[in-house]
Amino acid sequence: MSEPATAQKPSIRRGEEIELTLEKFADRGKSLTRVGGYVVFVAGAVPGDRIRAKVFKRKKSFAEAKLLEVLEPSPLRTEPRCEYFNSCGGCKWQHVQYDAQLEMKREAVAEALGHQGGFDLEALGIEVRPTLGAEETYFYRNKMEFTFASKRWLTDWEIATGEVLDKDFALGLHVPGRFDKVLDLQACYLQSEWSARLVNGVRAFAKEKGWKPWDVRNHTGYLRHLVLRTPEHTDENMVVIVTSKEDPERMALFAEFLQRDFPEVSTLVNTINSTPSQTAYGEKMINVFGPGVVHDKLGPHTFEIAANAFFQTNTKQAERLYEVVAEFAGLKPADLVYDLYCGAGTISLFISDRVKRVVGVEMIEAAVVNAKANAVANGVQNCTFVAGDMLKLFTPEFVEEHGRPDVLIVDPPRAGMHPKVVKQIKRLKPERLVYVSCNPQTQARDIGQLGDAYHIEAVQPVDLFPHTHHVENVVKVVAV
Ligand code: SAH
Repeated sequence: MSEPATAQKPSIRRGEEIELTLEKFADRGKSLTRVGGYVVFVAGAVPGDRIRAKVFKRKKSFAEAKLLEVLEPSPLRTEPRCEYFNSCGGCKWQHVQYDAQLEMKREAVAEALGHQGGFDLEALGIEVRPTLGAEETYFYRNKMEFTFASKRWLTDWEIATGEVLDKDFALGLHVPGRFDKVLDLQACYLQSEWSARLVNGVRAFAKEKGWKPWDVRNHTGYLRHLVLRTPEHTDENMVVIVTSKEDPERMALFAEFLQRDFPEVSTLVNTINSTPSQTAYGEKMINVFGPGVVHDKLGPHTFEIAANAFFQTNTKQAERLYEVVAEFAGLKPADLVYDLYCGAGTISLFISDRVKRVVGVEMIEAAVVNAKANAVANGVQNCTFVAGDMLKLFTPEFVEEHGRPDVLIVDPPRAGMHPKVVKQIKRLKPERLVYVSCNPQTQARDIGQLGDAYHIEAVQPVDLFPHTHHVENVVKVVAV
């Protein structure tokens, strides 16, 4: 509906400075407020803040403003721990108290179930449970991917030091919205103190040797990414160095350096990516020393993790997530469970000793190979893994072959499930359905499409990524 021409539109102009009080959190770490007909988004502000901001974008119904000054801080604010907070894309909510972050994630889930799912939670008597928070809100990641760049982004305080800084070499994380510029991180609180020390050591070594970082514009340079895997439950540590070409001599020097200065590194892998594409994967992986894999545990089971394998990045919270899945699934010893979108079979194995049989389905062949190997290595004999696209595979014939499931566990990617897959679930009508998702909106949409045959019994968000807007959500759905 368009507003009548006489309605008073406030004169929000680009370039204008305004004073605002933020109302609520918006997507991706921004907060918003309404000024007349406009929704104004401000990054770095918190609901309850009274701020001065400058409008830098104005569209028909919304505007974006840059935070200039906090006039009255919100009670939800806290001091960010990291000195790169204002520049880095890593942890956008460090300035928000952890309890408020958890509540915000709970509200986001409730809102999605209302808007995208069409559920009136109050009328249905459903309360989204409080988000299960992490005990450790820093140093929680078991994997980090750092980027080498020939263009360094300088923070305001780096510039203010007045020192002459090397701007042609950076090793760290990207500045949001800048594909070419990287922050030269001397510290990062996401993985471990050790990993920050290693990043600094590698940077100093590479600079001393005169090795050039990758230039994203000209496609020149040698060093591209540094990936560190530091499992939660073992002492193993993997370094993956992604380079633009194979150079055995340089790699021998690098291996020697690591083994001397960082003996905690149990394996070094050199991935070659000669293409313009900015990813830490490549056309070739060379095992420079060690076994080329590390191990971590989820529950009682041990998982082998290769350089390019997917593994949950927050081990401790993944275990809590899987406990919720197991609880919501109401597992019984006689149950046949389907674990759909199963990745490397981590959920299947986690629940395997509580049920009769698990059938896992996953599209990526390599993950299915891992899942089978993980089952064998852990002596698990009641899991079957099938490679294929759910859309094609999940048919009545599949069910005939593998048996009618008592429980379905689904954990699809961000886009959610294909409508045809949702239809097939509706037709199959298993007694219990547990839907795990990293995207509450597509999750709510899919559950909404199940219709009257099911009802929601419990909703539990879990925080795997403190200081970010990301949330994992588990919904228990039962047949009526
Ligand atoms: N449950 C696993 C992984 C979930 S991630 C865990 O907890 O670790 C989602 C998985 O769905 C990915 O491994 C992805 O490869 C897989 N996937 C995506 N689309 C698919 C499809 N159409 N059919 C089958 N698997 C798919």
